[in-house]
Amino acid sequence: MRITALAGGVGGAKLAHGLAQLLPPEDLTVIVNTGDDFEHLGLYICPDLDTVCYTLAGLANPQTGWGRADETWNAMANLARLGGPDWFNLGDSDLATHIERTRRLKEGQTLSQVTRDFCAAWGVRHTVLPMSDQPVRTIVETEEGELPFQEYFVHRRCEPRVKGFRFEGAEVAEPAPGVREAVESADAIVICPSNPWVSIDPILATLTPALSLKGRGNIVAVSPIIGGQTVKGPAAKLFAELGIEPSALAVAKHYRNLLTGFVMDAVDAELLDGVRGLNMRVCVTNTLMRSLDDRMQLAGEVLRFIGETI
Ligand code: GDP
Repeated sequence: MRITALAGGVGGAKLAHGLAQLLPPEDLTVIVNTGDDFEHLGLYICPDLDTVCYTLAGLANPQTGWGRADETWNAMANLARLGGPDWFNLGDSDLATHIERTRRLKEGQTLSQVTRDFCAAWGVRHTVLPMSDQPVRTIVETEEGELPFQEYFVHRRCEPRVKGFRFEGAEVAEPAPGVREAVESADAIVICPSNPWVSIDPILATLTPALSLKGRGNIVAVSPIIGGQTVKGPAAKLFAELGIEPSALAVAKHYRNLLTGFVMDAVDAELLDGVRGLNMRVCVTNTLMRSLDDRMQLAGEVLRFIGETI
């Protein structure tokens, strides 16, 4: 079964990792959000792409879910001592990724070429694609004005109240090479349990002008909201500030025009009828991925659920 997964960072990477344990490399492509990429310290940084690649490579920090395992922070500490900007933490090993990526991009390589080479170097055998080689930038509309995503997310710690989002460049950016083929040849598209507003919506905004996902067979999303809460990150806060009660049902409603199926946690079983009422099939299971076994178990459930309708 060929699966194309759409993923942001931590939540998306965990399910992608589970799927990668069960599917051969030719059957899994992960399309990753680049809306929160940014330039910092002269370096081109791709937080979600790196989180997915490090996770698939077994190099990710198991505590944070992002960054590298066994990381050291000497460069950052020395940068701070010199008065440099230290609000975005970059570990020493991680810095090598950004330095080499920036060098290659300046030489004229595309982001997808660099990603492919890095995956080969890290031993990632499944295909990981940035959503686009052209810049798409998530802009957060807040009560204090518009903020670039990392400025809002890391520097301001998601404090300003959110009014909405826009994805600058999405209407003109082309899907990266391989994205169209991955979507068109997939038996199913899996929307990973990533933040709907700032991880998945930028991908959908970039892909849909060129590629219609709707009506393309199975499209299944896994809820990143469990029991009304996020496992990590600001998704629930964003829902609330946008006037929507955070819940798995709210996630299903958010994607309602796209989905054929929805996977939500057993603690949310009382929402089952509400989600079914949106005209989609529902799978209720354990969706909290604390261990590699959890990732594999959830990936297995998702594949079984998809398999029921292929
Ligand atoms: P970010 O770019 O690093 O914030 O990554 P994502 O958007 O991919 O992940 C953030 C979302 O993942 C949050 O809404 C979390 O609730 C969700 N998430 C993280 N871990 C898990 C998990 O184990 N299970 C589920 N269902 N969601 C998770």
